Amino acid sequence: MSKNTALYILISILIGTISFGVFWHMRLSNTITMLAEDKEVLRTEIAELKTQTDQTIADLGSTIDTLTKDRDGLKESLEEAREENESVEKKVSTALKTVETLSKLAATDPELLQKYSKVYFLNEHYAPPQTKAIDKKYLYTETDVEYLHAEVMPFFKDMVEDALDDGIELYVVSAFRSFDQQKSLKSAYSVTYGTGANTFSADQGYSEHQLGTTVDFTTTGINGGLTGFDTTPAYTWLTKNAYRYGFVLSYPKNNQYYIFEPWHWRFVGTDLARDLHNDKKYFYDLDQREIEEYRATMFD
Ligand SMILES: [Zn+2]
Repeated sequence: MSKNTALYILISILIGTISFGVFWHMRLSNTITMLAEDKEVLRTEIAELKTQTDQTIADLGSTIDTLTKDRDGLKESLEEAREENESVEKKVSTALKTVETLSKLAATDPELLQKYSKVYFLNEHYAPPQTKAIDKKYLYTETDVEYLHAEVMPFFKDMVEDALDDGIELYVVSAFRSFDQQKSLKSAYSVTYGTGANTFSADQGYSEHQLGTTVDFTTTGINGGLTGFDTTPAYTWLTKNAYRYGFVLSYPKNNQYYIFEPWHWRFVGTDLARDLHNDKKYFYDLDQREIEEYRATMFD
């Protein structure tokens, strides 16, 4: 091979190599440029996605806020509705109670809590709607027959039985007395005691006994009498306990109507009896208007 031929080949190889290099260089630059463009596009897309995501998060936040507010609003409405319902329920219950009280009041004898005793006159035809004979074992004289207002009977029995459990014997001497019975009793007393009878015996129509709610008690040790009853344990027991059964002492010491009548106990209902006991007052200390408030529930 001549020198020229070798040179020629060498130059050809050189040119070939350079051309190849240039070609690849151009191709690579092209690729780099394209990649850079792609990167830019991706960056823009990411930025857009980020904006969208931020927006979505913000939207979600605001939706949650709205829902929370709605929920609170609903809670409030529910609470208001509940309160309103309660208030309606209360009103209905008050109205029902009023109706109950009124019907009880209508059903309770208006005479039962009247102040008698020279103050208020009871019609001569008045008699309790229903009386019951008192069990013989509670009478001092077993041949006697005594009647009591039917609705007072359970309270009376409870009291006498509980007294007996405490070792106290209470016996009835006198309970319901009709207008006529009272009339003849007063006449008999007046024959014996003259006008002095007015201090311990009511005129007919003014006696609490005509109501059927009142009882005169005796006990062992005083021969079935009334005198001296205030010195007995039975009287002490009654002053401590009778109010629990709705019974009160009508004529305490120094009352303005009659002499002290420790044996004479009138049923006025447990509410009134308890309040009188707590206030250390007697039935006749109250106004009729104050007493009336207890009438509807006197047999509860
Ligand atoms: Zn009496």
